Amino acid sequence: MNQITERRRDRLPRDLPEVAATPVNAPPDDEALRQIVVVGGGAAGLELATRLGDRLGRRGLARITLVDCARTHLWKPMLHSVAAGSLDPGEYEVNYLAQAHWHGFRYRFGELAGLDRTAKQVRLAAMFDDEGRQITPPRSVRYDTLVIAIGSITNDFGTPGVAKHAVQLETPAHAERFNRLLVNACIRAQTQEAPIRAGQLHVAIIGAGATGTELAGELHRTTREVVAYGLDRINPERDIRIMLVEAADRILPGLPKRISEAVQRLLGKLGVEVRSGARVTKVAADGVQLADGSFIPSELVVWTAGVKAPEVLRDLDGLEVNRINQLVVEATLRTTRDPHIFAIGDCAACPRQGQPSPVPPRAQAAHQEAAHMVQQIERQLRGKPLVPYTYRDFGSLVSLGNYSTVGNLMGFLFGRGIFVEGLFARLMYWSLRIMHERTVNGVLRTALGLLARGLSRRTGPQVKLH
Ligand SMILES: Cc1cc2nc3c(=O)[nH]c(=O)nc-3n(C[C@H](O)[C@H](O)[C@H](O)COP(=O)(O)OP(=O)(O)OC[C@H]3O[C@@H](n4cnc5c(N)ncnc54)[C@H](O)[C@@H]3O)c2cc1C
Repeated sequence: MNQITERRRDRLPRDLPEVAATPVNAPPDDEALRQIVVVGGGAAGLELATRLGDRLGRRGLARITLVDCARTHLWKPMLHSVAAGSLDPGEYEVNYLAQAHWHGFRYRFGELAGLDRTAKQVRLAAMFDDEGRQITPPRSVRYDTLVIAIGSITNDFGTPGVAKHAVQLETPAHAERFNRLLVNACIRAQTQEAPIRAGQLHVAIIGAGATGTELAGELHRTTREVVAYGLDRINPERDIRIMLVEAADRILPGLPKRISEAVQRLLGKLGVEVRSGARVTKVAADGVQLADGSFIPSELVVWTAGVKAPEVLRDLDGLEVNRINQLVVEATLRTTRDPHIFAIGDCAACPRQGQPSPVPPRAQAAHQEAAHMVQQIERQLRGKPLVPYTYRDFGSLVSLGNYSTVGNLMGFLFGRGIFVEGLFARLMYWSLRIMHERTVNGVLRTALGLLARGLSRRTGPQVKLH
């Protein structure tokens, strides 16, 4: 019953072409169709569900279901801009219900809570609204092929005080919360009778990977813009301090040294303080304690150090996980213990050819794995064997907002890694976001979105003020 019928197999074109993104009604409710369930609609899962919906769901060749515990999608590499106040998430969010309607898949609101591999069912927890009223009951979704793409969460390595006193940039809600804290701190400083305290307008960013470093650069600009809208009691040079704290001996430890040095120089010129080789042992309401005994006064703390996969994966009906909860997959992206279950994106530990560490948790890996997974599923439907995925590193770009962008572009394009900086690097950085948008929204909707945002930027403040 669950296998694709011969007639349907015949209808699978050799090279399934892209279908234009015109609205369609819900895909056929046919139990005989192969049930492909994607859990997690992030950089990897949403691209996968959208492509599968366009290529298979709309044509009645399989039933595609996307499950996510959020109602909308925002591409995670934008979160630091939301936190800094330079990007309004409402302008970029993709609504899952609408996306499913337009692209031939079904969306189910729910949080992965467990798995029954024998019954081939995903268990979803009940969902509640802000008032505590149940929206959806606990339920199960049946699958023939399951793809888990629930991303990663911040790893605080058990550091005391992080959960209570630091903001972790995992979701748009976290990023918006940090931005509100920041704007409120500025308004409070403007209106209070007492002088501004040491640490009151200081921001300590723990973890100088790409996220923390980019946040530092953007915050430098946006805090000055917020103040420029009439908060004249605040002197940014005197009162606002942005610190980047990193346990490794240099910022951007995962990137080539040349990029790290160039970015550190730029941050230095802006006045962003960098403390490398500094391990945080505790976060308190008024600052950050370091292992060397020193204390950094800072009432705003952002934790961007380290990632791990969500806890729910740790015991998912016996699937193999590594020490940071990632599902261990073969090079085909199939989990090592179940041929019907795949994992992609940050939550997957996928072997990397010739390297001891798995494919890194990055947006370009999520994008590549989603594209590869579409082909794997089509191969499965045709009864063909799976093929291994090879990660292609196209390089890394680090953007310091309007100030500069620095990075390296890798081998495939130029035969070796080349260092890029300035306008070209900025255009490349920008194009990554557009590529994701185009995959999810199609060319026309992406172009209209760009135009609409361009116009709204001309009519409002350049930074979020509320
Ligand atoms: C602030 C920030 C900046 C970044 N900047 C960059 C960058 O510049 N370049 C780069 O390459 N990478 C960057 N990354 C990393 C990049 O965003 C991730 O590698 C990428 O988003 C991973 O995609 P994913 O689909 O695996 O996970 P995600 O995009 O995180 O999506 C996971 C999805 O799963 C859903 N979900 C989670 N748990 C459950 C559950 N239990 N049940 C149901 N649904 C669930 C979530 O709601 C989400 O929609 C950044 C990450 C962050 C946090």
